[in-house]
Amino acid sequence: MEYCIFCKIIKGEIPSQKIYEDETTYAFRDINPQAKHHALVVCKRHVTGLADHAALPEQELAACLRTAAKVAEMLGIAESGYRVVTNCGSDACQSVAHLHFHVLGGEKLSAQMA
Ligand code: AMP
Repeated sequence: MEYCIFCKIIKGEIPSQKIYEDETTYAFRDINPQAKHHALVVCKRHVTGLADHAALPEQELAACLRTAAKVAEMLGIAESGYRVVTNCGSDACQSVAHLHFHVLGGEKLSAQMA
């Protein structure tokens, strides 16, 4: 596998502001927040993005979304509302080729999706 910054973060080789971790997922604060609260949920298994979903067991894919909801609760934004986004491929401006979900909230988000 080529160098992957999120794999390094999961292993603790690069520091992160960890929010939550379990057997298959890891959540931490985005270094360049796009909302008052901006977390990233990554699957621990390296898959390049949602297009690579076949390489991820069903339970691990589902676990990403469960962790996203859990992180929203931990950040105190579950009731006020939040957005979960994954960018896939170049047109979506995916910049890190390791499946991850953005969890954004803590303020009124734009009605536009991008
Ligand atoms: P995407 O553009 O959808 O691939 O999202 C990648 C996200 O990773 C961006 O929002 C970056 O700000 C974030 N990011 C990149 N490096 C780090 C890092 N070392 N710690 C936390 N977030 C990072």
